[in-house]
Amino acid sequence: MRSSIPQTAIVIGSGIVGAAIAYFLTRRGIRVQLLEASAPAAEATGAADGAVSVASKRPGPMMVAAIAGVALYRELEHEGLFAGLFKSRSTFIVATSDEECAVLEAHADALEQAGVRIERLTGGALFEVLPALSPSTRLAVQVHGEGHAIGYQIVHRLLTADGIVVDRHTPANALLRDANGRALGVETHKGQIKADVVVIAAGTGSATLLGLADILIPRKGQLLVTERAPRLNAAFAGSIMSGRYLMSKGNRKPGAPTPARGLGLVIDPLVTGQFLIGGTREDHGDRRTNDIGAVSHILADAVALVPQLVHVRLLRSFAGNRTAVLDGLPLIGRVPGLDNAFVATGFEGDGICLGPIVGRTVAELVCGEAPSIDLVPFDPARFKSGMVAA
Ligand SMILES: Cc1cc2nc3c(=O)[nH]c(=O)nc-3n(C[C@H](O)[C@H](O)[C@H](O)COP(=O)(O)OP(=O)(O)OC[C@H]3O[C@@H](n4cnc5c(N)ncnc54)[C@H](O)[C@@H]3O)c2cc1C
Repeated sequence: MRSSIPQTAIVIGSGIVGAAIAYFLTRRGIRVQLLEASAPAAEATGAADGAVSVASKRPGPMMVAAIAGVALYRELEHEGLFAGLFKSRSTFIVATSDEECAVLEAHADALEQAGVRIERLTGGALFEVLPALSPSTRLAVQVHGEGHAIGYQIVHRLLTADGIVVDRHTPANALLRDANGRALGVETHKGQIKADVVVIAAGTGSATLLGLADILIPRKGQLLVTERAPRLNAAFAGSIMSGRYLMSKGNRKPGAPTPARGLGLVIDPLVTGQFLIGGTREDHGDRRTNDIGAVSHILADAVALVPQLVHVRLLRSFAGNRTAVLDGLPLIGRVPGLDNAFVATGFEGDGICLGPIVGRTVAELVCGEAPSIDLVPFDPARFKSGMVAA
């Protein structure tokens, strides 16, 4: 299977990652059956902010992958697939305290070393570019060449471009495999479905399919959307991210206690004139609920950073679950012990940015082509003991 191109594939999950994998496999002439427990973009992809951004990525493989991810958005926009869906803009990471300034300076160095174009703004220059910011802001780092996309719109475009049909309300319950270490297909409530390859892109649902409940962590996030405020919106040259956001994006050591709720502020000016404001990182709780503690905390932080937001009404709030991995890196690659089964999950807060590039890379892997991004750091085999096939 490594050298020959398969004819049929099952992709499990129609979030942005599964939809992108299905798209790039279909483009290679492979017949794809896309199984979805619920509906397309029903989970994290439909509850995300949508920053297509290198700015917040940890230095190392995630930053490198995100640079390729943003470049692919531009390429697909240029080709027409993402036309009208990708809003180009800068990200401004801002610091108001000594601690945030120190974290931001180090992060700015790392971005520069990775080849990302940035500018440090202080004093008058800062408020000329970002007049709406609170006077307490001490440093802003402008990260050029970033963008924004709505996850469910990207999924819709990926699925409709080649007429990919989603088998809705058809969860894969288990992988089928033979005695020789090959995946045969999946078990569903409609019966067995067979294919040459199986790709698991089921977000948090991947934990059950792979036996990785201790490795994949549902990480809830709460977000807010305001009414339209066109004049204030126009005063934003890009999205504003607090230095604290960088600190809230940590990872957990095995066996470490569940951390307190992380609050990292992002204020994103939408094309509609509204603002999307978030968000929390919570390794517990019901993903469907917002709580007044989180909502009031996010609002207070947002008004402290952009005082004029106090005049803008909150329209709605929502929540979703990111799929985090214990070591902070996604799982992308072959399922250990199964030559023709693959997994792509664990993208935490980065899957809108990385979804299309991961889709292309997994399709390349399935077809024996050279991968667009280095998959070694993301090899699922690092958690082999938990894998279904081990
Ligand atoms: C509040 C919040 C803000 C975010 N902001 C950003 C951002 O600004 N930028 C960014 O890049 N990312 C952001 N993210 C992260 C991003 O949304 C996710 O990383 C990304 O959507 C993950 O996509 P996915 O396809 O892997 O998973 P999902 O979107 O969760 O999709 C998985 C799909 O699999 C289905 N499924 C599950 N189990 C099964 C099964 N057994 N059989 C069949 N189907 C199954 C589910 O129903 C679901 O549709 C944010 C996430 C949240 C929650």
